[in-house]
Amino acid sequence: MILTHCAACAAPLGLALGKKCGRCSTRYCGPACQEQHWKEGGHDQLCKLIKKAGGAEQYNANTKYTEAVSVAAEACAEDTKGQTCYICTQALHWKTKEGLVRMCACRGTAGFAHVSCLAEQAKILVDDAEERNLDYEIRDSRWARWTACGLCEQEYHGVVLCALGWACWKTYVSRPEDSNTIRTCAIGVLAHGLGDAGRHEERLQIQQTQFSTQMRLGLSEQELLATRCNIAVCLEELGRDEEALALRRECYATSKRLNVANPGDLYRRVLNLSKSLLDTHRHTEARSFLREQLPRHDARSVQQMTHFSSFAGITPFSLCDTGASEKMCSRLRLFLRSYPRRRSGSTGPRIP
Ligand SMILES: [Zn+2]
Ligand SMILES: [Zn+2]
Ligand SMILES: [Zn+2]
Ligand SMILES: [Zn+2]
Repeated sequence: MILTHCAACAAPLGLALGKKCGRCSTRYCGPACQEQHWKEGGHDQLCKLIKKAGGAEQYNANTKYTEAVSVAAEACAEDTKGQTCYICTQALHWKTKEGLVRMCACRGTAGFAHVSCLAEQAKILVDDAEERNLDYEIRDSRWARWTACGLCEQEYHGVVLCALGWACWKTYVSRPEDSNTIRTCAIGVLAHGLGDAGRHEERLQIQQTQFSTQMRLGLSEQELLATRCNIAVCLEELGRDEEALALRRECYATSKRLNVANPGDLYRRVLNLSKSLLDTHRHTEARSFLREQLPRHDARSVQQMTHFSSFAGITPFSLCDTGASEKMCSRLRLFLRSYPRRRSGSTGPRIP
């Protein structure tokens, strides 16, 4: 479920509060809003249509999908002029009349496609893997088609990834809502796409809802941790640094307590927390925390960090490819000394 606000007044409803339209499942905070929406909000006109589409969630997914596809085709219009879809061979989609997109590594005349055609292909491949119960690796590679180009295999980005996110969600929204199903993966694809297109408010809302759902389903702390870290990323993107820091502290404490199997994971939490401390100008705490932490992590865990590039504030670590933790510490000290200057001009506090 991603519709968690009253359709009339937008009051937050969480997962269970409020009232639903008996026909189409549109959600309201109470009978007053439902009545007002019916009489003045146009719901009397839309209710049948929403029911026919498969209910409020499906209708919302379809609508958002159509919007996202036109945004993506518009953004790609210059690049795709005079080209045709490599899947259906047409310039305009026969049914939806949508334009072409291409935001991957394909060059020349390769890789132009309709989002609808890409989505159709991904769906067919995943359906087939499900029906034939193919092994995990094949299913995984097929699932990747929701986010990556089938020709150059590079992940799509920006508004195209976002449109594919809505396509994926619209395809699987009606699946059962239990733990670890394809529906959960689809929410992940949508959240990823929204983030890549810079739509962090929407992404945050979806991830917070996902977290509540996972809590209700009784997922393990380890699984919840991944969602919480994603929420922290959203908060950072939205400039809500203090909230992000509080969450980073909790994520770090949980990782430590759970004694995560992969040392690279814990190390990533350490760096994330350090970055949050720096973002909120807690330089002294960041420094002592990292001084205490770094000698505990060897070069292998550093190398296991796959997301280095996202830690813009801590890039000097990526240079540390030897096992010498003392060397890392000295690089860190050097870096932390220059950090406030790099971040906010010459006015920030200096670290001795
Ligand atoms: Zn309301
Ligand atoms: Zn209705
Ligand atoms: Zn096509
Ligand atoms: Zn490509």
